[in-house]
Amino acid sequence: MQALSQRRFFPMYYARGVADVTPEFIRGCGCSALLLDIDNTVSRVDAPEATREAEAWFDTLRRADIPMAFVSNNDPERVEPFARRYGAKYVSHAQKPRREGYDRAAQALGHAPDACMVVGDQLFTDILGGNSAGMQTVIVEPLCEAEDPVAFRKRRRLEKLLLRLDRLLCARRRKIGGSQNENHVSHRL
Ligand SMILES: [Mg+2]
Repeated sequence: MQALSQRRFFPMYYARGVADVTPEFIRGCGCSALLLDIDNTVSRVDAPEATREAEAWFDTLRRADIPMAFVSNNDPERVEPFARRYGAKYVSHAQKPRREGYDRAAQALGHAPDACMVVGDQLFTDILGGNSAGMQTVIVEPLCEAEDPVAFRKRRRLEKLLLRLDRLLCARRRKIGGSQNENHVSHRL
């Protein structure tokens, strides 16, 4: 309840997909580095590469000189080759929502926590972890909800409930971007 009352469960910003998190928006929030979830945020689960949209976004970030690191609860066999493909630093087995993985990733990029923006698709890992680490947080719609196993889907339902509550209270003004991304199959926002 303490986390709930402190809004630690809730994202600071909502976006349909990563492309809405533009360099202008990132810098406008006072941030200069990105810490990214992988599965269902920039890549379909266990796909070896990011979606084409995410790859184009990586290029945009690179041109804008905004470094990124991947922070994933997945194992090194999944995370390391994925990060290497994009020349990014990474933390695998991050144990999100613990903040340590985010702290390590921020350190690896040489940025203070409050200069980092976390982007992910799950409240109970990405958003709670990023908020706990004192970072700004953006939730995106999951790329392929239908592939989630049953337990995952139950958690998604609870997440949706909380997000709806948050949206009712005050989230509308914090929604960013307006892309219609065909990769995103859910309509959580
Ligand atoms: Mg994810």
